[in-house]
Amino acid sequence: MLSQAAILYALGAAPPYAASAPLVIDEVRLEPPGPGEALVEIAAAGLCHSDLSVIDGSRPRAVPMVLGHEASGIVREVGPGPAQFAPGDHVVFSFVPSCGQCVPCASGRAALCEQGAAANAAGTLLSGARRFSDSQGRACNHHLGVSAFSRFTVAAQQSLVRIDPDLPLATAALFGCAVLTGVGAVVNTARVEAGASVAVFGMGGVGLSAVMGARAAGAHPIIAVDLLENKLELARAVGASHAINAAQADPVAAIRDLTGGGAHYAFESVGSERVLVQAYEATRRGGTTVTVGLPDASKQFAVSALSITAEERTIKGSYMGSAVPRRDIPRYIAMYRAGLLPVDRLHSRSLALGEINAGFDALAQGRAVRQIVVFGHADE
Ligand SMILES: [Zn+2]
Ligand SMILES: [Zn+2]
Repeated sequence: MLSQAAILYALGAAPPYAASAPLVIDEVRLEPPGPGEALVEIAAAGLCHSDLSVIDGSRPRAVPMVLGHEASGIVREVGPGPAQFAPGDHVVFSFVPSCGQCVPCASGRAALCEQGAAANAAGTLLSGARRFSDSQGRACNHHLGVSAFSRFTVAAQQSLVRIDPDLPLATAALFGCAVLTGVGAVVNTARVEAGASVAVFGMGGVGLSAVMGARAAGAHPIIAVDLLENKLELARAVGASHAINAAQADPVAAIRDLTGGGAHYAFESVGSERVLVQAYEATRRGGTTVTVGLPDASKQFAVSALSITAEERTIKGSYMGSAVPRRDIPRYIAMYRAGLLPVDRLHSRSLALGEINAGFDALAQGRAVRQIVVFGHADE
């Protein structure tokens, strides 16, 4: 079948993207789903900083690639053989397919699935297949097994999580990356307890979700750090008790002051090794630093080695919120419905697929948190 998609052909285009147009809107050919795969009509797809990192070349991926990894949709067809889904199922995508067989999967650590990571690095589905080709007949890579900036996509069924059909699909999309990653960093990776002090660096979709998760966990105070006032205002609206503009004040000193010596938990969601050092320095003795951001692969960071021992400090990585997607996406949706996670506040505006390059300008400039490409459907 044919689908309309946004295809990335080259990394490192110069901004503004509205002018350089790194994402080319064109028709793509989509092969039918193979065994264990599904054809999904995309309903909504969020623009995430990880997409931007591919576009600007800071997190290189093989091109051509159909980008987009935070999405919801409706299953239209399943591949031959046994199937976990049926046409008409509403789904959210997980951007790491979990094979269910490898050691991390068998250990309840689906976010670290070895086959899933290998397929994502190769730009294929879990089966190793590529189902997209462009109008010149060139095979296109899949983005994290999702490729949501396309009206239709084919995905491994292990990339899908079924959701209730009454949940609005634009909201549902946000649970696939921002909420899964940010809330998961707090409740799965750090296991923040009620009354603990929390600092979160970087108020993008993930950082704001971490603030929401900290609020739901009963943390206090919850200190948000960013360079932009509009983001800090949003942080207060979703549960931060304090907001620090790091362009105006030293966030480490301010957090130490507000918490009487440092936060129990600090989260880095900027993707900067310098901010990671600040987050570490903003924790108290015995504190835990959780890194959620994705710095450039060449970057290193240095902290006092003695302090890790003598002050019993912990540094933890958190990928995709240490999630088990089929456990966590339904539970975060239930928390949202109970009023515990104000996820709708992340949704800055909706876009048509043709506006996507300008949308990435708005994301890069901090003018938006989550912009959602909405594809219209009859049966939503
Ligand atoms: Zn993302
Ligand atoms: Zn696995």
